[in-house]
Amino acid sequence: MNVLKGEILAVGTELLLGQIVNTNAQFISKKCAEMGISVFYHSVVGDNPNRLEQALKVAMERSNLIILTGGLGPTKDDLTKETVASVLGRSLVMDQQALNYIEHYFSRNGRTMTENNKKQALVLEGSHVFPNDTGMAPGMLVTANGVHVLMLPGPPKEMEPMFTNYVQSALLQIAGKAMMIHSRVLRFFGIGEAQLETVLEDLIDEQTNPTIAPLASDGEVTLRLTAFTDSKEKAIPMLDQVEKEIQSRVGSYFYGYDDTNLYLELKKTLEAKGLTLACAESLTGGLFQGEYCQMPGASKTFVGGVVSYTNEVKEKLLGVSPETLQVYGAVSKQSAIEMATGVLKVTGSDVGLSFTGVAGPDEQEGKEPGTVFIGMATKDGSTDCLTLQLTGHRNVIRLRTCKHGAHRLRMWLNQESV
Ligand code: ATP
Ligand code: MG
Repeated sequence: MNVLKGEILAVGTELLLGQIVNTNAQFISKKCAEMGISVFYHSVVGDNPNRLEQALKVAMERSNLIILTGGLGPTKDDLTKETVASVLGRSLVMDQQALNYIEHYFSRNGRTMTENNKKQALVLEGSHVFPNDTGMAPGMLVTANGVHVLMLPGPPKEMEPMFTNYVQSALLQIAGKAMMIHSRVLRFFGIGEAQLETVLEDLIDEQTNPTIAPLASDGEVTLRLTAFTDSKEKAIPMLDQVEKEIQSRVGSYFYGYDDTNLYLELKKTLEAKGLTLACAESLTGGLFQGEYCQMPGASKTFVGGVVSYTNEVKEKLLGVSPETLQVYGAVSKQSAIEMATGVLKVTGSDVGLSFTGVAGPDEQEGKEPGTVFIGMATKDGSTDCLTLQLTGHRNVIRLRTCKHGAHRLRMWLNQESV
């Protein structure tokens, strides 16, 4: 096994001026950590060939894997390849495949290719070339005197997929690792990151292989379990064992694996039960329906909905009774249930879901911002309501409300065995 000493060298004056953040270094470091490849230095240098040359020479003294990002584009200030070529004493040669791709890209877009675009298809002699599926400049890996120099494009939307799809396995290979990475992401909702970490503290502290990495975002927490083994057959039981322990502690908050989300899980449940959904939204103003309809094939389960912001619309379009609105208010359990029932009736769906509440910043009907009622109704007359007291800004409250709706409705439908 070759021990790799990694270093990331980001190229770009914009980084030095503070105009952009070096997310490439973060992304690559994370990936290297997952692969068990050590990274000892991050550095940044501007679009200046002399300083890039110096930085590269320093890096080559202390590291045997140097990952450069940026400066592979067609413009004059993009000098990474040229500088690496001159430091390593290699020439630049035209990569026919990359050139074909660039020519094709231009003809497809009805544009004329300029001479400097051709420059993007030049690669270092003897390098391993990585295709760029989301842009034009290919990436490349060249090895000289035991030092591996990897050059990747600057834009994260090009660099990240290239890294995941092509570079990662090449790095594992040069690291001599018969080892492979097998990951499983567990998704939780309704539990905070701090609480989850406290409950799993001993497991997280003792982790070695598989590793357990928590990540929180938008009211959700994920745990990425990563096993390093030489085969998938060995990885699966290792991941299963850690997952089993985790599920025994926080399984009630678990909702899905890997790239799923709360809306997709709800959609799967509706599909499995052969049910259709309609939605009435007050504080969320159509946000839930927007999120749901982002999914391809949403029309199989979603029939439509009503944005019933005012009481008038709640009454006229959904049939919420004026007494309910007067006695309990629009932000109430009673209104939520009548909205859910109303939208179900008016659209002819099997299930109705409703959202009413105070997004803030001001109070409404004497109720505090973050007071939310989520109504649920089915065609056979079952109803339920979830009451929440959320915190945060207006849009955080609206987004979280939608997620709670997707989560709670799925659980309710499973419970009710509708
Ligand atoms: P292009 O073909 O777009 O010129 P390039 O490989 O030459 O790509 P740069 O010119 O260095 O890359 O950077 C292009 C853009 O990519 C930057 O404006 C910036 O938005 C993004 N970028 C570059 N380096 C980084 C980095 N280290 N972290 C995050 N974003 C970056
Ligand atoms: Mg550039």
